[in-house]
Amino acid sequence: MFNLILFGPPGSGKGTQSNRLIEKYGWIHLSTGDLLRAEIAKQTPLGIEAKHLMDHGHLVPDEVVIGMIGSALDANPQAKGFLFDGFPRTVAQAEALDKLLTFKKTGINLLIFLHVGDEELVHRLVERGKNSGRSDDNAETARKRIEVYKRDTTPVADYYSRFGKVVHVPGEGSIDDIFGALTREIDGKAEKAA
Ligand code: AMP
Repeated sequence: MFNLILFGPPGSGKGTQSNRLIEKYGWIHLSTGDLLRAEIAKQTPLGIEAKHLMDHGHLVPDEVVIGMIGSALDANPQAKGFLFDGFPRTVAQAEALDKLLTFKKTGINLLIFLHVGDEELVHRLVERGKNSGRSDDNAETARKRIEVYKRDTTPVADYYSRFGKVVHVPGEGSIDDIFGALTREIDGKAEKAA
């Protein structure tokens, strides 16, 4: 089993690269953003509350997303691995994830940190907003999301670096080149683990 966290700021290409990675490696893609948007689409009470926070660029409470991830792990007992995208976003979420995985006799193998400059991120999110239908893809919310990311989420990378699990990959360039860099890191780590 191989469990990967694809890490990086909003707009760093995690979603795009995740789709390619799960196709190549056959993992289960767990995006808390996608899970929350599914709740919004169904207009569940959780979705309605989350939408308000998401539209303002704030994080949804830890216990909500941890609960979602716990259920998704339970729902996929035969998985070859999980790709976490947009989760964990706080150190409390990282600690909870580690506990959940330990309980399942597995753990995080690797965190790949995608690096993209702030102005490029805002540009990408605004461009994406023209077609994504996402009400949080606008310049103002994008700036807030980047601020929240720097304050609450970057400590997650520090948390995993203490365990020697972090590698850094440039997130600017062609989608193919970035994908190549990601697969080299994953294959290198998987070989070492084998
Ligand atoms: P994303 O699709 O990953 O960009 O997430 C969109 C929004 O959903 C974020 O700005 C947060 O409001 C919320 N969200 C997604 N994942 C998480 C998470 N792990 N913890 C808290 N809030 C989250």
